[in-house]
Amino acid sequence: MAETIRINEDTWRFEDNGVRFFLLTGKDRAALIDTGMNAPDARRMAEELTDLPIILINTHADRDHISGNGAFEELYMSPKEEDNYRNNGGKGTIIPVKDGDVIDLGDRPLRIIDNPGHTPGSIAVLDERYGVLIAGDSVQDGNIFMFGKYRNLDTYIDSLKRLSGYDGQYDEIYAMHGTVPVKPELIPKLIEGAEQIRRGSAEGKKVDMFGNDVMLYKFPYAGFLCED
Ligand SMILES: [Zn+2]
Repeated sequence: MAETIRINEDTWRFEDNGVRFFLLTGKDRAALIDTGMNAPDARRMAEELTDLPIILINTHADRDHISGNGAFEELYMSPKEEDNYRNNGGKGTIIPVKDGDVIDLGDRPLRIIDNPGHTPGSIAVLDERYGVLIAGDSVQDGNIFMFGKYRNLDTYIDSLKRLSGYDGQYDEIYAMHGTVPVKPELIPKLIEGAEQIRRGSAEGKKVDMFGNDVMLYKFPYAGFLCED
């Protein structure tokens, strides 16, 4: 069962065995950002914390982020993520979001920023009131999964550069894995690491990940798991 931790008056994080998801409340409604890996009761956990209507926004559709989605009839997600979502058994109606959309919880606007690369329809959510960026799996100090069907390292690098363009609008990043929060200074480091991998100048070692041979590139600030 995921552990509930209050971050501030109207923000919580749920720690779900190596992955986390978030609840944000505004004046009129609340938003769950993802629903974890082993948390089919994510909605109920959120309902214990707020009486407001709760919407669901998914940063992306990898299996460790959608375990509680079944309790929602509809969810906000990039339409570019639908293929990944349905392949992972995702149900419900997708309300499509695109770059620049603002979902207002009531005095708490959440700006959607396209953030593809880790998956085709990854998005980041900018919580303008608190100056916090929730960037799915692309900004974190754990091992970032960049192997397999839906990943694209070039697109990932471009997305991180775009996120850097919002510099100054956030001073903390809530990561879904690893340390939370992390600082915006992590983003240029991740760009540098990913560019080294792309140039072939990073040193990796072969590791087994769920039966796949993949390359782990470990930097002091984070790791990348890439196609062998
Ligand atoms: Zn993840």
